[in-house]
Amino acid sequence: MSPLFNLSGRTALITGSVRGIGFSLAEGLAAAGARILINGRQQTAVDEAVAKLRAAGHAAEGCVFDVIDEAAVEAAFADLDARGIAVDILINNAGIQFRKPMVELEVADWQRVIDTNLTGAFIVARATAKRMIARGQGGKIINIGSLTSEAARATVAPYTAAKGGIKMLTRAMAAEWAPHNIQANAIGPGYILTEMNTALIENAAFDAWVRASNPAGRWGKPDELAGTAVYLASEASNYVNGQIIYVDGGWLAVL
Ligand code: NDP
Repeated sequence: MSPLFNLSGRTALITGSVRGIGFSLAEGLAAAGARILINGRQQTAVDEAVAKLRAAGHAAEGCVFDVIDEAAVEAAFADLDARGIAVDILINNAGIQFRKPMVELEVADWQRVIDTNLTGAFIVARATAKRMIARGQGGKIINIGSLTSEAARATVAPYTAAKGGIKMLTRAMAAEWAPHNIQANAIGPGYILTEMNTALIENAAFDAWVRASNPAGRWGKPDELAGTAVYLASEASNYVNGQIIYVDGGWLAVL
């Protein structure tokens, strides 16, 4: 592996990494040499994901918290401090989505999606950046956006607002933390085969639409995001800041 993309000696915390895109990103960063901190809300799921990485020969530990529980995030970071573990790379990946027309949407539903996808990223990044700044060794923050950071679709208004917010939050992080040698960038995945999309994958009309509207003619796979994450987590991207890279098979290119 080129030394540019070598993550040996780095510790990466990936939120919502017990499955789906988060777990694939964990595998990708681990393969590049990083020690992984798996995060989830359930201890059992976290332990299982950690065990899978260790069985593949990677260094991994668990870190249980809900990204929207400020006190739990602070307690988890205090625990990492006490164990002498510093986070060099943060991937804000935890996210939820559901589909409902805006005129039927309850404020509580709206709030839950904004909280998980946007406020949670702020809460975890704040705890991480505080420590990166105090250590003075820089760091990498990668926020997971979406095609909806750029393009709106019907029935996912709070998700679209949150992911649009992720794009600008990433720029705000870059503006504020670049002087501390912290690079904050985002990845905007296209339509990816994960549990989040189970209902859509099983919907023949939606599946056909994804294939027809994407020049690649297919859905993306979670492991197709790992290379971009490794790049943004590595020294290869030290002068890249505040950007969002879409990994969508070309979907936005032909929109
Ligand atoms: P999944 O539903 O498969 O996984 C989401 C993960 O986030 C789960 O591990 C879930 O854990 C975790 N999570 C949810 N809420 C919280 C929370 N409050 N605190 C901690 N963890 C939480 O989704 P994907 O892997 O598909 O999505 C990952 C990210 O990629 C999301 O940000 C999503 O918006 C984004 N994305 C996905 C796309 C796709 O097509 N799949 C496209 C564009 C963006 P738990 O088991 O506890 O629920």
